[in-house]
Amino acid sequence: MDRDTILVVDDSEIICSIIKGILETPNLHIAIAHSGEEGISKAKEIKPTLILLDIIMNGIDGYETCRILKEYEETKDIPVIFITGNNDSDSVLKGFEVGAADYVSKPFIPEELKARVKVHMQNIKNQRELQFLMKELKEMATTDYLTKLYNRRYFTEQLLDYVANNNNPISLIIFDIDNFKKVNDTYGHNAGDMVLLTVSQIFKLILREEDVISRWGGEEFMIYMPDTTAEKALDIANKLRNEVSKYTYHCDNASFHCTVTGGVIQYDREISPEKNITNVDQALYFGKSSGKNRCIYNYPIMV
Ligand code: GH3
Ligand code: MG
Ligand code: MG
Repeated sequence: MDRDTILVVDDSEIICSIIKGILETPNLHIAIAHSGEEGISKAKEIKPTLILLDIIMNGIDGYETCRILKEYEETKDIPVIFITGNNDSDSVLKGFEVGAADYVSKPFIPEELKARVKVHMQNIKNQRELQFLMKELKEMATTDYLTKLYNRRYFTEQLLDYVANNNNPISLIIFDIDNFKKVNDTYGHNAGDMVLLTVSQIFKLILREEDVISRWGGEEFMIYMPDTTAEKALDIANKLRNEVSKYTYHCDNASFHCTVTGGVIQYDREISPEKNITNVDQALYFGKSSGKNRCIYNYPIMV
């Protein structure tokens, strides 16, 4: 991560130099602006971690500057600490009303300024960490750790959401890797994982951004294609199947190929989601029992 920057906005050069002297360290850069207008444009440009803002300045004052900073998407979340000569409760209150996180009074005691800045920097670091953890947690809850495809639960939620909010044709494709147990038994579990990863990458590469792919189970993948009839989905399923079968895997001194069998249906809004899943599964199992490495469309229809 880049080093943190604090933007000091004060029309007094001497105050800016004093603050810079107190706060600057090798890990903390101090940027300076001498008016509200300059402060706003610098804040947008450098996106500082924190802003120290003087209240009384020529041009727009600190309150107005803060109010404007809170309006822009790029700057609205940057904490602002007011530097105030008037620490009467009305001006302090007004500062908080326009969105300030804190204030320090002039003339300031260096240790107090350092301590307040430190508290806010720590808060920001905690927030960043929390956001990072939340992102990781969300990823863990919605995706599969190996392929990074959506997991079954999240995929199903997305599918039901799409079905409920659109009337466009939507197709489901399920794929199961053929004789996958043999891959594991012959080349080892890591080679099996490599196949799962490669197959998922081939799918991602060929499918559109709006198609949603999931790792449905061990070596099964389920895909839904918005705005797609089953005839079109069958074409695409066969293209995916072909690409998978052409790929050569290398493992130690051996090389091998893998194939997939697919089932394809057009989602039927007249029947339950579970029945749609059963139908696409049936198509897949017909494909398996009739020789594998093929895609079966709409077989049999269960209502
Ligand atoms: P079929 O053509 O009928 O689908 O036969 P198959 O061998 O592919 O199917 P089977 O259900 O007999 O075996 C699936 C194997 O997939 C068994 C299981 O150990 C393996 N498997 C499931 N998840 C993973 C995984 O994450 N990594 C690896 N390497 N193997 C996995
Ligand atoms: Mg299989
Ligand atoms: Mg299977």
